[in-house]
Amino acid sequence: MAYCPECEASIDMEADDVEEGQRLDCPECGAELEVVNINPLELEVISVAEEDEEEKDNW
Ligand SMILES: [Zn+2]
Repeated sequence: MAYCPECEASIDMEADDVEEGQRLDCPECGAELEVVNINPLELEVISVAEEDEEEKDNW
């Protein structure tokens, strides 16, 4: 079990099932997370999900 650093929701995952560096989305807040540590399981936010704000071709 790990916790989303963004919204602190518990994410159902086992250390055996993930690899360091693996990325996933938080099912609660949609934040993009990366596994930075396996033991203990630790997640880090890569990017927070934002609505209606895409930064591409925005010159
Ligand atoms: Zn979250």
